[in-house]
Amino acid sequence: MTHVVDRSLLRKIKRHGAGSKLDVDACFQCGNCTAVCPLAEDSGGFPRRLIRMAQLGMEKELLASEDIWRCYACGECTQTCPRQADPAEFMAATRSYAISRYDFTGLAALANRSVLGNLAVFALFSIVFGLLLASAQAPVSPQAPLFDFIPGWWIHAIGVALFVVVGISAALGMFAMFARFVMGQRRKGVPLRLGALPGAIASAVTDALMHRRFQRCDSGQATPPPPVEPWYLRAWVVHAAVMGGFLTMLLATTLDFLFKPIGSPVPPWYPMRILGLVGGLTCLYGLAIIFLRRIRAAQPPWRKSAFSDWFFPSLLAATVLTGLATEVSVYAPLGSVGHGIFFTHVVLAMDLVAMLPLTKFAHVLYRTLALTLFAWRHAPAREHVTVDAQI
Ligand code: SF4
Ligand code: SF4
Repeated sequence: MTHVVDRSLLRKIKRHGAGSKLDVDACFQCGNCTAVCPLAEDSGGFPRRLIRMAQLGMEKELLASEDIWRCYACGECTQTCPRQADPAEFMAATRSYAISRYDFTGLAALANRSVLGNLAVFALFSIVFGLLLASAQAPVSPQAPLFDFIPGWWIHAIGVALFVVVGISAALGMFAMFARFVMGQRRKGVPLRLGALPGAIASAVTDALMHRRFQRCDSGQATPPPPVEPWYLRAWVVHAAVMGGFLTMLLATTLDFLFKPIGSPVPPWYPMRILGLVGGLTCLYGLAIIFLRRIRAAQPPWRKSAFSDWFFPSLLAATVLTGLATEVSVYAPLGSVGHGIFFTHVVLAMDLVAMLPLTKFAHVLYRTLALTLFAWRHAPAREHVTVDAQI
């Protein structure tokens, strides 16, 4: 089999993640990282094998491997690396690189490669959404009800268009990953059975929602083992709080859009409002723990932080906080200040959705797909099922 070698691959990956601080060239393939990784026992040996692919410039093989996404960034491998090659950061940087390569617009490559690029994409979206919303802004007095400031039907129209564009962009990115995986399996002669795909999807979605694999990261195989933390501070609980909170807010917004007449006032105990509030507070709890850990930088994976590690959680936190402030403005009218908070919240929420398939938050999509592909690849062959049934 011939391999196309990209000699600049390692350099390109290092531009992502923690950038120049990543010293993966020092890796001499001892395999300690794979031995200690709580999630590597059922794979072909990540992260060591993926590092080797990057060192050899095997981009096609690297991006066709779903193992990139099966890592949960616990950092145990980095703690045991004798060469300080930081395999956990390498995995994070490779995921960021993969997002840039799957995205067809080129915006992900711009946003993930440098701080300026990230801010430029953010500014671009903010200006576009700001102008769009302002273009339909009704002339209202500061005393006017909050939701009269920007017509609800206009927010909904932009929101629907945005979800369609983002949905298409995310679907194309996932298809790019899927196609690379299928071609990679073909090259290796591994058969894939279409009938096993629905079961693999169900297994992956359950896994992602329940954080089953993430919980295995608490097994503490590293030397010395990480301190045992109370359940509410464990990495998988914090991650579940951010993800669950975000999904709950998304659900509340969708239900609101589907069932509440546009612009109609609702009481504080309105179910969708309470659902959004619970989601927002849960998400803020998870984000606060993440920020504290990154500020303390006590141990991997928090010791090194790329700009993108700060950017997306900050955008999410700003969106939630302005959303909560908007809720306050509904019941305690703040005049033009309330209008400004509302406007900022809508722009930030649209930025958040637009940047979802471009930033590290895209792992929500790619990791679920990777878990599906892994389960699919490991689904028992039909003949094995028949033999088992006969026994
Ligand atoms: S432990 Fe370090 S040196 Fe050893 S294979 Fe992993 S990254 Fe390379
Ligand atoms: S960060 Fe954790 S899950 Fe990822 S490769 Fe290292 S030990 Fe495995």
